[in-house]
Amino acid sequence: MNILVINAGSSSVKYQLIDTDKELALAKGTVSRIGMSASVLTHKPHDRAEVKVSAEILDHIIAIEYIVTILMSENHGVIKDASEIHAVGHRVVHGGEKFSSSVLITKELMAELRNLIELAPLHNPHNIRGINACMQKLPDVPMVAVFDTAYHSKMPPHAYIYGLPYVMYKRYGIRRYGFHGTSHRYVADLAAKKLDKDRSECKIITAHLGNGASIAAIDRGISVDTSMGFTPLEGLLMGTRTGDLDPAIILHIMAREELTLHEANTLLNKHSGLAGISGVSSDMREIEESVDENKNSALALETYCYRVKKYIGAYAAAMGGVDALVFTAGIGENSSIVRSKSCQGLGFMGIGIDEAVNAKSKGIEADISSMKSTVKTFVIPTNEELVIARDTRELVESH
Ligand code: AMP
Repeated sequence: MNILVINAGSSSVKYQLIDTDKELALAKGTVSRIGMSASVLTHKPHDRAEVKVSAEILDHIIAIEYIVTILMSENHGVIKDASEIHAVGHRVVHGGEKFSSSVLITKELMAELRNLIELAPLHNPHNIRGINACMQKLPDVPMVAVFDTAYHSKMPPHAYIYGLPYVMYKRYGIRRYGFHGTSHRYVADLAAKKLDKDRSECKIITAHLGNGASIAAIDRGISVDTSMGFTPLEGLLMGTRTGDLDPAIILHIMAREELTLHEANTLLNKHSGLAGISGVSSDMREIEESVDENKNSALALETYCYRVKKYIGAYAAAMGGVDALVFTAGIGENSSIVRSKSCQGLGFMGIGIDEAVNAKSKGIEADISSMKSTVKTFVIPTNEELVIARDTRELVESH
């Protein structure tokens, strides 16, 4: 079965066409700069070179049209016609408390998704736009929504309640939800396999360190805690997001600098994190390259890794132990420096890294644990699209 996986953002649509029988991405690509000047479609068939198409792509409907057309094109296509797209799986960021697993998309579901916009105004509207565009272009194809929050939906109340008046939770749904669920789920399941155990038998800490970053405690197959909260702003330091912060600070800065809500939001989400501390870049590669000549880059790197380490300790405590630690996403898969610094001094809890193996492990599955360690440390490249494709197939087949 061929599943088109769609991840629609505000000005971009990422896609993969996945043959789920072979678990092979037949083609993948991105439409970027939607609604801006110089929109571009980057498309890579699995067996041919990447192509770039410049076009005027004014909205998500036109973007989907371009995607379906190039998937069928004579030179760059991987299917003959649209009937070879058997289902579409959509990444939807926020499923609120309502959705604890993936669901088939129906008219009633669309209404429920619209109700969730209030919880994720920066993300869900774009996801919905992507779904509507596919419904127009591929009206007879079944579609599934896969939520970033779903995997964390079994967190216990003591992990998701904030220290606010309880009425804020009841009135506005203010609680911790967690994100990156498909990624945490994928790497945790694979780590259990590598341990040669059923997921119900192990305690795993999964560190998804990308431009956005979160870490999760997976106790016997269930995410019992994760570092992102009501929004993706909480937790680890990120490329441009603060992560954990004393909430009084923002009130203080807003008063001192006379910031509007919008400006405060931009400060926390776009100008903070690695970029904010270093003043150099939000990109970990540039931080690593500049640590020797720039004190603030060195501070950003130390702060980043220290926070990862603190969460590893916290989640081992939350689960009463840990069998495996997994690093994934752009930084987790590629930065041996971040992995090494984040695990430094954790020998007391059985975590230790073989530095020679660690240094060589870039973007590939690897066991980087030292001989002495009792906790396995793995690098596992994430594959959120594959999880979305698998869920989509399962739901479509069972209906
Ligand atoms: P993602 O959001 O998963 O695409 O991850 C993006 C982050 O991965 C950026 O901060 C990149 O700097 C980082 N990254 C990618 N490759 C490397 C690398 N070789 N070394 C360090 N960081 C990397």
